[in-house]
Amino acid sequence: MRRTNTFKLEPTKEQDKNLVELADNCSSMWNKINYKRRQSFFSGEMNWKTDEEYNKYKKLVGSATAQQIIRKNNEAWKSFFALLKKKKKGELPHHIKKIKPPGYWKDRRTNRRILRIFIRCDCYKLGGDMLKLPFGLNIRWKGKNRWKGKQGRLEIIFDELNRSWYAFQPVKVQPLHQPLGNKKAYCDLGARVLIMEEIDGEIFGYKGNSLLADWWYWTKKIAKYQSMLKENNNKHTSRQLRLLYRKRKRRFRHAVNTVVSRFVHMCWLKGISEIIIGDLISIRDNNNKGKKANTIVHNFWSHNYLTQRIKNKAEEYGLRVIVVDESFTSSLCPRCSSRHIVKRKRLFKCLNCGLEAHRDAVGCVNIRLAQGEHLAGVINGAVARPLLFAVGTSHALE
Ligand SMILES: [Zn+2]
Repeated sequence: MRRTNTFKLEPTKEQDKNLVELADNCSSMWNKINYKRRQSFFSGEMNWKTDEEYNKYKKLVGSATAQQIIRKNNEAWKSFFALLKKKKKGELPHHIKKIKPPGYWKDRRTNRRILRIFIRCDCYKLGGDMLKLPFGLNIRWKGKNRWKGKQGRLEIIFDELNRSWYAFQPVKVQPLHQPLGNKKAYCDLGARVLIMEEIDGEIFGYKGNSLLADWWYWTKKIAKYQSMLKENNNKHTSRQLRLLYRKRKRRFRHAVNTVVSRFVHMCWLKGISEIIIGDLISIRDNNNKGKKANTIVHNFWSHNYLTQRIKNKAEEYGLRVIVVDESFTSSLCPRCSSRHIVKRKRLFKCLNCGLEAHRDAVGCVNIRLAQGEHLAGVINGAVARPLLFAVGTSHALE
């Protein structure tokens, strides 16, 4: 599996100048190649030739880096074409709304080139607190060298918001654990309860309340700052504002990652080898109820992000993740299969057999049932009173 180490670079003034120059040349090279390819793509005939750019830029960025930029651009176009193919076949994943050919390395707001450098896997060395780069650059770095393994292509970028350089080092590593059993966990994802899962007749969930509250706290702060900016400076954006947006997003993602880590760790302890997740299309008929939660579901809270995080974490434990499309899983009674049901807030009631349950618990049980896996015991107590963990507090299983 692939993981990425992130480092902050602390170049001297002189080194900073060198990095800017190098990155600007990389960016310029990318844009030239990409311009040519875009023009030829839109004219209907793909021109893949890059000799001219390679020969010009290898003197400026080194032949290895010039080669990496060409390779990276090839990859970008290849994945674009793969998506086009999928779209034609109608197999495009539903979280992808629009596909566009690879873009330029350009900050749309400032219209300046994005500063980015690629270093081939065998052209850099990370030792002690120094990062050894081509052109005799020996730069101090900070951060956690968390993943150890075969190193890949290093990416160095200048973060305009933080005004700092960062390096991203992809590393090939082995999973840290192996499954302890071969049980399955059935999960339903949402905003109020981030993950609700059913394992062996037990139902657990991780509450999203504090995440939502934090999200709203920062949203209000952003709104307040925004109107102040408009009133006092007649401006729509500022660095401060963009930093606030970033902060809100990072806090949320950090909390999601904490939940995902706990969840996957618990699955592993309970002998799970396969995690089955109901896909978004079905997502708990969140369409018109609970305005606040829905704003997040639709505008920010990304089902895909949560799924990707679960997949990523599960990989570390050697667990498989399967995403299944389960439409209407929450509008069916898990006990008698009746659709004659009512839902009010978190409560689910079947008017046919009288079952009363937590609606998110119904979701994950129905995902299990839809896979043809029956379990009589679950339908009674557990669906009515799932065990809910609050986020941000340690729970009994750790
Ligand atoms: Zn029923």
